[in-house]
Amino acid sequence: MNFFVQRSELRDIYDKVAAGERITDADALRLFNSRDLNVLGAMADLARQKKVGNRASYIVNRYINYSNYCILSCQFCSFSRKKRDADGFELTIPQIVEKAREALKLGITELHIVGGLHPTLPFSYYVDMLRALKTLDARLHLKCFTAIEILHLAWLAKKTVEQTLVELKAAGLDALTGGGAEIFQKDVRATIARGKESAAEYLDVHRTWHRLGGRSTCTMLFGHVETHADRVDHLRQLRALQDETHGFTAFIPLAYQPENNDIPVKTPPTGFDSLRTIAISRIYLDNFDHLTAYWVGLGLKLAQVALSYGADDIHGTIIEEHIFHMAGATSPQLQTEADMVKAIREAGRTPVQRNTFYEPIRILEEAAPALAGNPAPPVDSEASLTTA
Ligand code: SF4
Repeated sequence: MNFFVQRSELRDIYDKVAAGERITDADALRLFNSRDLNVLGAMADLARQKKVGNRASYIVNRYINYSNYCILSCQFCSFSRKKRDADGFELTIPQIVEKAREALKLGITELHIVGGLHPTLPFSYYVDMLRALKTLDARLHLKCFTAIEILHLAWLAKKTVEQTLVELKAAGLDALTGGGAEIFQKDVRATIARGKESAAEYLDVHRTWHRLGGRSTCTMLFGHVETHADRVDHLRQLRALQDETHGFTAFIPLAYQPENNDIPVKTPPTGFDSLRTIAISRIYLDNFDHLTAYWVGLGLKLAQVALSYGADDIHGTIIEEHIFHMAGATSPQLQTEADMVKAIREAGRTPVQRNTFYEPIRILEEAAPALAGNPAPPVDSEASLTTA
C-alpha cells in the first residue's frame, strides 16, 4: 500500500477492495465525490489485477452501421437521420458482405453491427444479413444490435423478445452489443432520449439473451446531464443483473460527445472525470471480469492511461466509426493493431488479442509473473483465428 493510500480519507474503502469485499452505493458516491484520483487509481488497479493479472486486451474488428435512419429522435444522438435528410444512408446486404469481405483480409475476428431503428426494413433483412455474413466466414463472430434494436426487431417480427433472439441466434448472431443503455435513471433518460425504451426493457433483453446462453457487453453514457448518484444507480442495476445471470463479458463506459445534438453540454467529459468513472466502475462492478476503455471516445492516449485506472481492454481496430464521430469525436476512424499493442506494452501490460467473448486468441509476449493466487489463464491455441 502506498503512502498516499495509507493517509487517504478513502482508506476504509481501499481496505474493502483489498479484502475482496463489495463496496456499497454510499461508498461509490463517496468515491465520485472525491478528487483523490491517485488513490482511486490505486484501488481500481488492485481490483483489476486481482481479476486479470497483468494482461490487457484488444480486438481486431470492424464496425458496420447498416443504416442511420431511425424512427426515434433521442436528443443526445448525432447519428440518426430521417428519410428526408440528405446524409441518411442504408446498406444493402451485398454491400455489407463486401465490407466484411474486405475486412477479413485484415484479419478481423468480429463484426460489430448496429444501426438506427429503421422505419421500413423488414425483419427478414436482419436475418438474411446474419446468414449472409456467416456464409462468408462461419468463424467470424457477429456482435450485433443493441437491446433497443432487438425490441424494435421483435415488434417488426411480431414475436416475443425470446422468440426474436432465438431466431437471430439461429441465423448467426453470436453476441449482443451493449449500446442503448445510456443512463437508466428515468428522468435523465427522458431528458436525453425521450421515447426510448426503459431501463427495465433494456435489462430484460440482456436477461433473456443470457438465459438463452448468450453473452453481451453493457455500457453507460456519462458526462451529460446526469448526477453522480445517477451513475451509481446505473452501475447498481448492471451489477444486480450480472449477479443474476453472469452473462456480461465486460462493461464499457462511454464518454458523452457533445456536438450536433440537442443536449446543452458544451464539452465532453474531462480526462479526470473519465478516469474517475472508469476507476469507480471497476471497483463497484466486482462481478465483471473486464472493463473496456473505449478509445473512440477517450482517444487512444487516455485509453492507455485508463489501463492504470481499472481498464484491462482498449477495444478494437474498428476501421469505420460513425456514431461518435458524428457527435464530434476527434479520434481517428481506425486504430492499427500495432498502435494498440504499443500502447498496452508502454503501460506495462502484456498485450493479448482477444475474441468477442474476451477470450485470448494470442498473447504477444510472455506474461509478467501473475499475482499469487491469480495465475494468468492459459491460451487456447485452438481458438486462434489469426496467424501470430
Ligand atoms: S440513439 Fe439510437 S434509437 Fe436514439 S435516435 Fe439515435 S439511432 Fe435512434
